[in-house]
Amino acid sequence: MIFGGLEKFTLIDYPGKTACILYTIGCNFRCPYCHNPELVDETVETRINEEEVMDFLKTRVGLLDGVVITGGEPTMHNDLISFIKKIKELGFLVKLDSNGTNPSVLKKAISEGVVDYIAMDIKSPLSKYSQTVSRPVDIEKIRQSIDLLLSSPIDYEFRTTLIKSLVSESDVLEIGEEIRGAKKYYLQKFVSTKILNPQFKNKITYSEEELTSFQKGLQNYVKYCGIR
Ligand code: SF4
Repeated sequence: MIFGGLEKFTLIDYPGKTACILYTIGCNFRCPYCHNPELVDETVETRINEEEVMDFLKTRVGLLDGVVITGGEPTMHNDLISFIKKIKELGFLVKLDSNGTNPSVLKKAISEGVVDYIAMDIKSPLSKYSQTVSRPVDIEKIRQSIDLLLSSPIDYEFRTTLIKSLVSESDVLEIGEEIRGAKKYYLQKFVSTKILNPQFKNKITYSEEELTSFQKGLQNYVKYCGIR
């Protein structure tokens, strides 16, 4: 695999673990608030091959708990699972971030025991997905990925980035219904930094007060709801 970035250390991207982050190139969505536009439109200048990544990881055996694979959308890459297997052989935990468009890849990763944690974005209620991600979406696949995680033995989380003009209060509750029974769901504040669609730079996220109110409402749907 070829990667568009390697962050050597993080304490916040793999809950409770020390980790490094690998960024894959390319994505099948165009979320206007995406913080990694150069990975999504594949203009990223950094290109790191698998051998370089493995050489780095070998120096971190015993020092880091895990590896976070994010993107872009990692499941678009046919060699993802065979690559993860090599990481697992070094003894690392693996967290995979995904937009849920490839349930068959997630299913294979879970059934073959090569991932320890999956974080899946829930962009909006299923009925608004294409509008939110600016691409046609096979909603059945998103539904399958949600169901897969809900019944999965591994640790997972769902998460939604909240911009008022994209996800309304009633949308948040609709999402709660669509992921009913989930172990963990995070409401993420939109932070306006470098983003895919500059017109979204000044879009407004919800206040702490509003998020806390959503959090309370979501307790009826999910086992744990956090704000980040
Ligand atoms: S936020 Fe995630 S799913 Fe959306 S365009 Fe960016 S990388 Fe793709």
